[in-house]
Amino acid sequence: MNELLITRRHLLKKSLALGAAAALVACESKPKELHCTNTSSLTDEEVKARQTLEYADKSPDPQKMCDNCQQFILPPSGKGCGTCKVVKGPINPKGHCKSWLAKGAPAPSASASGTPG
Ligand code: SF4
Repeated sequence: MNELLITRRHLLKKSLALGAAAALVACESKPKELHCTNTSSLTDEEVKARQTLEYADKSPDPQKMCDNCQQFILPPSGKGCGTCKVVKGPINPKGHCKSWLAKGAPAPSASASGTPG
């Protein structure tokens, strides 16, 4: 009986230690969230344009993010903050703005305004 108690205690301690170790590994392996919000190098006009287009560092719509927008330019390393042909400053691949345009979609043009010809 006493051996059984020791065994249960031993198992309980081992499982707690393993659980704690697994939680620690999970915390350490979680990728750090990317922030592309530093606009200190931009002019006031560029910051205002960014705000007018409602750039958000995290898109409210997972179907419409900068990394699937045709205006997005990947950084040379392929990861981290990119840039944009429309919005100045660092751009989060998971971000969004009002100028989002699906990759492969025809670019908006003057003839798209509804006038024939
Ligand atoms: S136009 Fe807007 S949605 Fe598209 S890449 Fe630039 S900031 Fe992102």
